[in-house]
Amino acid sequence: MNQTRRAGKLRGVNRNFLPLVFLCLAFCAGAARAAFINSQNYAPLADWAGANGFRVASLSRAEIVLTNKSSRLVFDTDSADAKINGVNIRLSFPISKGALISQLDLDTAVKPLVYLQKPLAKRITTICLDPGHGGKDPGNRVGWHSEKIYTLLLAFELRDQLKKLGFNVMLTRSKDTFVDLPERPAIANRAGADLFVSLHFNAALNEKDSVSGPETYCITPVGAASSNSQGEGADHGATIANRVEDKSLLLAHQMQRSLVQNLHVEDRDVRRARFAVLRDAAMPAILIEGGYMTNPTEGKKIYDANYRKQMAAAIVKGIVNYQRLTAPPLPPDLAATNRQAIKIPAAIPSGTNKIPAVKHPQ
Ligand SMILES: [Zn+2]
Repeated sequence: MNQTRRAGKLRGVNRNFLPLVFLCLAFCAGAARAAFINSQNYAPLADWAGANGFRVASLSRAEIVLTNKSSRLVFDTDSADAKINGVNIRLSFPISKGALISQLDLDTAVKPLVYLQKPLAKRITTICLDPGHGGKDPGNRVGWHSEKIYTLLLAFELRDQLKKLGFNVMLTRSKDTFVDLPERPAIANRAGADLFVSLHFNAALNEKDSVSGPETYCITPVGAASSNSQGEGADHGATIANRVEDKSLLLAHQMQRSLVQNLHVEDRDVRRARFAVLRDAAMPAILIEGGYMTNPTEGKKIYDANYRKQMAAAIVKGIVNYQRLTAPPLPPDLAATNRQAIKIPAAIPSGTNKIPAVKHPQ
């Protein structure tokens, strides 16, 4: 309809009814845009952007890019792949046609990474490291290499580096012993640890030569299916870990960013899983798949002590960056030790936005 014809039509409407007509148009347009898809409430991304101080930087059939002063959000249409402040995030539900996003993803994947967590977490003093597998459980095996050996060696390296920064560090195992999965977060809970970091290395069943890079997991939101390969369904109730899921996501985001940037490896996403070691942890908890043993190049690096040292340094940076976002300022002496021991990037993209004054759409 061209402008002249539209104006002509409006001229035909009694002026007394105009406000009513506009109200009806606005209401009908809003109702038509929001949707209920796959049992989920979906909201227009453009509306969310407008209400939250974001600009639609580009919008095509394949991709929607939202930006503000400190954040850049990229969503692929018809896909659960998103990129939030430089890190790939696997959403719980795909972006649907018409640039709609599930309200669950807005609440559990976007907002926790764009807005600083409040109340702030307490300062991290004790970190529980969980070297995956052990004893009768070798984990992934490639040739004569067993995952359980390398997770323990990485944990030792990480423990040394974290201790130098003044953290208390505990391990769920410090020998080649079998520890039941539920016992691992229980150890961290009993000790009142502030963070739980489980360490693993991955193996691909197919395309072994091409799949590489780290993945960082945190707990699946209630009402969503997991994004690991075994992916449990969405009909799973809340776990202890869901109480602190926003902080776990923020930790996973900082960790994945640090691993990808510092190790110069492929970004295989922040993902969600109800792993036994994650779901019962009462503190922010993540599981790092540090890379693929089945990839010939990455496998060789994982078996190399120098590379594991670099990986441990990247994990330390992820923890320190998370701490800087969420915890109260460091006491001066510990801050000085931290600065000397580790070069921390000045700008941290995630979680740095202030919550806008405008009301969030419900
Ligand atoms: Zn494993």
